[in-house]
Amino acid sequence: MKKSIKVLGEFGFIEDIRKRIKKSRDVLIGIGDDCAVLKTRNSSEVELLTVDSVVEGIHFVKGTDEVLVGRKALARSLSDIAAMGGVPKYAILAMGISSQTKISTAHRFLDGFLKMADDYKVHLVGGDVSRSPHFFASVTVVGYAKRGRALLRRGARAGDYIYVSGSLGGSILGKHLKFIPRIKEGKWLAESGIPTAMIDVSDGLLGDLRHVIEESRVGAQLVEKAIPVSKSARFLSLRDGRSPLIHALKDGEDYELLFTTGRKDLAWRRKFQERFGVSVSCIGRIIHEPFKIYIEDENGMVREIKEKSFTHF
Ligand code: ADP
Ligand code: MG
Repeated sequence: MKKSIKVLGEFGFIEDIRKRIKKSRDVLIGIGDDCAVLKTRNSSEVELLTVDSVVEGIHFVKGTDEVLVGRKALARSLSDIAAMGGVPKYAILAMGISSQTKISTAHRFLDGFLKMADDYKVHLVGGDVSRSPHFFASVTVVGYAKRGRALLRRGARAGDYIYVSGSLGGSILGKHLKFIPRIKEGKWLAESGIPTAMIDVSDGLLGDLRHVIEESRVGAQLVEKAIPVSKSARFLSLRDGRSPLIHALKDGEDYELLFTTGRKDLAWRRKFQERFGVSVSCIGRIIHEPFKIYIEDENGMVREIKEKSFTHF
């Protein structure tokens, strides 16, 4: 019997794709980061290119307000631009719609999408419509960053501090549809030169931290009591009996910024918090030991974490 894709996993399959790609001089960063980073004719800028999808039953349940689905469809890709410290500019929207879908439903999706596009000054410049048994939308976004300033997953160095914006966990209670892509914050961080690496937390803190340490060939040690556990994580914990910390470590779709920095002074952190009204927490350090994640508990005991966050297969 032929093996299923589950054996490879989502990221195993992406690795297979990556191995089959030839290098190109114009591609500064290809597969493996939040966006591709491409050379442009303008030597002071790079182009950022990303695509993300929302699929009924996976990223939202049937019956969800379509305005929120439209909003999320664009916001997911904007968050990847934020993760590079870039500014989004153009979007292309590919949709799959069943033939029974009401016109008003499709327009409500567009209402959410176009409001988000307006808010972020993004122009919808094209797309595609196909018949599909389940609704999906796949959104490509093009953005720009200053050359040499785009923040990559691969820049973390041993000794760096690990920071995360906002609070984490329990996004299923609402934030996964209503999160605010951290474009302003990401751009400010990129232009400040403070972070050595950055990613947005879409798969869950552990999963996305793992992407950073794998690309940077380092490890990480987290401090349990420093993890910013959200109210939703606590609330969900009362319902399902899993600890708030587990929710904060593993739940996906918070779309916060996770970054590393060698900076010891904290003046930048006060400035960031005052300017954006968003907290940033120092949750641990980058260590030499490649690909290992440890966590120090409330009693100072350190244990290795092997679990992963969300993957599609
Ligand atoms: P993110 O969560 O930031 O959207 P993903 O975890 O989905 O990123 O993807 C990881 C990397 O793999 C990204 O660089 C993405 O562009 C790339 N990737 C994912 N799926 C494919 C695919 N089907 N073909 C080529 N590259 C892919
Ligand atoms: Mg991302």
